[in-house]
Amino acid sequence: MTTLTSERPAAAPGTAQAGGPEILSRSMLIGGEWRPAVSGRTIAVENPGRREPLGEVPRGEKEDVDLAVAAAAKAFPGWSRVAARDRGRLLVAIGLELEARQEELARLIASETGNALRTQARGEARMVADAFRYFGGLAGELKGITVPLGEGQLSYSRREPIGVVGAIVPWNAPAQLAALKIAPAICAGNTIVLKAAEDAPLAVLLIAEICQDHLPPGVVNVVTGYGKECGEPLAEHPLVRKVSFTGSTAVGKAIMRAAADRIAPVSLELGGKSPSIVYPDANEDWVLDGIVASMRFTRQSQSCTAGSRLFLHEKIFDSFLERLVSKTSALKIGDPLDEETDIGSIINERQFTKVCGYVSDGLNRAESRLLTGGLPPTEGPLTKGYFALPTIFADTSNEWRLAREEIFGPVLVAIPWRDEEDAIRMANDSHYGLAAYIWSRDIGQALRAAHAVEAGWVQVNQGGGQSLGQSYGGVKESGIGREMSLEGMLDSFTETKSVNVNLAVPPPSSAH
Ligand code: NAD
Repeated sequence: MTTLTSERPAAAPGTAQAGGPEILSRSMLIGGEWRPAVSGRTIAVENPGRREPLGEVPRGEKEDVDLAVAAAAKAFPGWSRVAARDRGRLLVAIGLELEARQEELARLIASETGNALRTQARGEARMVADAFRYFGGLAGELKGITVPLGEGQLSYSRREPIGVVGAIVPWNAPAQLAALKIAPAICAGNTIVLKAAEDAPLAVLLIAEICQDHLPPGVVNVVTGYGKECGEPLAEHPLVRKVSFTGSTAVGKAIMRAAADRIAPVSLELGGKSPSIVYPDANEDWVLDGIVASMRFTRQSQSCTAGSRLFLHEKIFDSFLERLVSKTSALKIGDPLDEETDIGSIINERQFTKVCGYVSDGLNRAESRLLTGGLPPTEGPLTKGYFALPTIFADTSNEWRLAREEIFGPVLVAIPWRDEEDAIRMANDSHYGLAAYIWSRDIGQALRAAHAVEAGWVQVNQGGGQSLGQSYGGVKESGIGREMSLEGMLDSFTETKSVNVNLAVPPPSSAH
């Protein structure tokens, strides 16, 4: 069994508990200092794969947010005046240190999220380092433009930082999402207060520790706490000039309302119920692998981009599903830190119960067919953590709760179609519009569907994760704004200022 180690106690010493697992005790990073909550209260962090205590972090509230925002506001004038290339150099240095410590980061991610180390957490840790290096390299691209208004005019624009960014992230890919907010925000010259998710704050605090080794105090601040107590005051704070949020659509709406009061710009990366459309010519093994990947079964489908509605052409419906079931049931579920494990655990008991509720709902529908999975076992090794079974229901209606709501768990619904138009209509019949997956060897047909589907991100004949450099975000209730790219950094983390200069000022009059 792998155990966690905390060799560098800079963020706060880890305290071993006699007889039990080591408990990592961490503080918040505010103005370059590691601080407990003003109230002194803490939140317990659990390893959901073992249902064991893992650590504790401060239960930050409004007073703590006020301190963090004040520290970020104080640091802003100095940081914004650092030459962009010098900021970039610091980001690259952070990226290199993150790369050197990526195994430590990956183990922390696996321990607190339940995401399997081999299939998920290592990739996430790599992405964290890559994000800092990528945005560091882009610092020189924070350029404005000149506008040809005539010989007597110089018209140019500047990309200026916005000020203090308030960022809020969820637990499902906590380190990656934090890196994808911190790196572009500070690269562009902003300072940031980031609220980590209450279920998975430890990897984010490790990133903060590494950032702090390289940056002036107050440029990066990380607070921990619950959404209402800590996230809400951050989103509402008058000195927060931009809010970047990743999380559920319901909370995203509340964030947007709070920001509207002071006309603060928001980026919202929200939920999804993404369709996979499989054409009859794609009844092949590589497509099965792609569906398993796009459904994110190996991260318990706790992914906003999970292709959780599978629209299969009626000609291949049964044969495709039969083989998909055997692929899916071959995946090994178990302790996230075990190298053999493909699928780890659900994040917490509340989410586990919610997923089971959806499965029960499917089981209670006389018309739907359970093909694999179902409710988790009530005895045996899988009861040690919050382990859910990859579950597939066939013959589901697109109108059902299972096909309309974001489950954020490994429940896939398969729906047959006959006409392309009908498949696209069903795919678009959702208030979400984050990702979509199209599967066909006929590239014309596939691109027709890719263009017709309402989603911010479409993949054709593949089901992988997002890539740095590609603007990413949703349409409809899946969010607004794009991040992850140069354009995303410019649009989300800078303001454009236009400057017009009259070059035809007459010479000083000799009469004076
Ligand atoms: P959530 O919205 O409950 O919480 C996300 C974060 O917001 C947490 O840090 C939480 O503490 C905070 N929060 C909660 N209530 C708040 C409030 N009233 N004011 C301010 N902050 C508040 O979401 P979750 O359950 O942690 O994460 C799952 C959701 O995130 C899913 O809907 C998923 O689709 C979405 N998500 C989207 C993307 C994307 O890129 N579009 C990526 C990952 C996750």
